[in-house]
Amino acid sequence: MAFRCQRDSYAREFTTTVVSCRPAELHTEGSNGKKEVLSGFQVVLEDTLLFPEGGGQFNSSSSEEDRMEGGRKILTILETVEREESKPSSENQNIQVFRVKRTETVPSWNKMDHLTWHCLSPLGNLRFWPDDRGTINDISVLRVTRRGTQADHFTQTPLTPGTEVQVRVDWERRFDHMQQHSGQHLITAVADDLFGLKTTSWELGRLRSVIELDSPSVTAEQVAAIERSVNEKIRDRLPVNVRELSLDDPEVEQVRGRGLPDDHAGPIRVVTIQNIDSNMCCGTHVSNLSDLQVIKILGTEKGKKNKTNLIFLAGNRVLKWMERSHGIEKALTALLKCGAEDHVEAVKKLQNSSKLLQKNNLNLLRDLAVHIAHSLRSSPDWGGVITLHRKDGDSEFMNIIANETGSEETLLFLTVGDEKGAGLFLLAGPAEAVETLGPRVAEVLEGKGAGKKGRFQGKATKMSRRAEVQALLQDYVSTQSAEE
Ligand SMILES: [Zn+2]
Repeated sequence: MAFRCQRDSYAREFTTTVVSCRPAELHTEGSNGKKEVLSGFQVVLEDTLLFPEGGGQFNSSSSEEDRMEGGRKILTILETVEREESKPSSENQNIQVFRVKRTETVPSWNKMDHLTWHCLSPLGNLRFWPDDRGTINDISVLRVTRRGTQADHFTQTPLTPGTEVQVRVDWERRFDHMQQHSGQHLITAVADDLFGLKTTSWELGRLRSVIELDSPSVTAEQVAAIERSVNEKIRDRLPVNVRELSLDDPEVEQVRGRGLPDDHAGPIRVVTIQNIDSNMCCGTHVSNLSDLQVIKILGTEKGKKNKTNLIFLAGNRVLKWMERSHGIEKALTALLKCGAEDHVEAVKKLQNSSKLLQKNNLNLLRDLAVHIAHSLRSSPDWGGVITLHRKDGDSEFMNIIANETGSEETLLFLTVGDEKGAGLFLLAGPAEAVETLGPRVAEVLEGKGAGKKGRFQGKATKMSRRAEVQALLQDYVSTQSAEE
């Protein structure tokens, strides 16, 4: 049995009956990325319009024993399917990747129905994609998962078993998934047909999707040829249809080569793009390639274990990507005050001039340090305590001053950084005094430091307490001279 959404991917709403409703928990990730547990209800309907989270038969680890039936050994599910929502990486901003790990490879062909078939690509890898969103009587459905041949809808409001309900699918999300999914079938078929590039898995991302090809490299020419060919087929308005084949159908022989095990039982769901491809799949698809509008292949990235990832956008995503790129381009044009074709050159120039400025700044700072050191030597406080703070500067700046003054009798307290916040400090002077005072200075400034031979330096978090340090140093000096 297939769900209503599989029989008619274009249906946006329908009426059905609530079969059961029981309390449940949803383990999910909140918008802040933190794990949260929502309490609610698990609602089962007679049929559904909301495509469930796909992949394996189970969402969590599951293991059953082999059993004998009619003298034949039947392998039951021994597959562990894990759901992995990886964090967006820096280059993959805002992309949520859904991936399934197959940790056990003893499939239970007998127990799998056609719904599970999609999970197997020609090379036997699992595929996975996110579920639909929608409403039941205007109550939001937060997750749809498949359990055997039924779908569990998670809601936060209970529904009464036996009542008729109106189910509505979040069409924008669904149609987007249909475009990406049919787009993947098309690209997979064309890549195989043109260059013998086999698809090993694919991922439906939030912004862009990825097809993993079983080849260490794919050339730019191959990418261009694949893109050209898939768009040609979209313009040819080729129909896409979904059929259920019984096992004795002669056509089954053709799909058998794509990984159908000899002992498979039950009907097989086959998605066919006319004259292009027939693939066992349980997903929701467009009925004609023209509904894909356009496919853009953004390029390739090195994949895992000698594979290559092909990144693509289908349909409305191409428009969204354009809008986003154009927005960035406009902002850059305003900032850089030049046309898009000159952006790269303008940024390169800015980077070079900033490097040069940094270098000049450093030289000036060094010269300044020498100059400051000389003027400090002629200060009336020379021989006592001398403090100096400068916003701009670094550890080198302070060390040059300490070196140039050659302070052996004077306590030199230098600081750089934010006047009230964090910064660096250096204490120089008579070895014994510095050894005693250094750790206390670090403590007052709520920082850390270390030193030897008349010099103690470190990081501070409370520059605002510099006056306290100065008082501490003055105190020390006056006690010392009183003792003499
Ligand atoms: Zn598929």
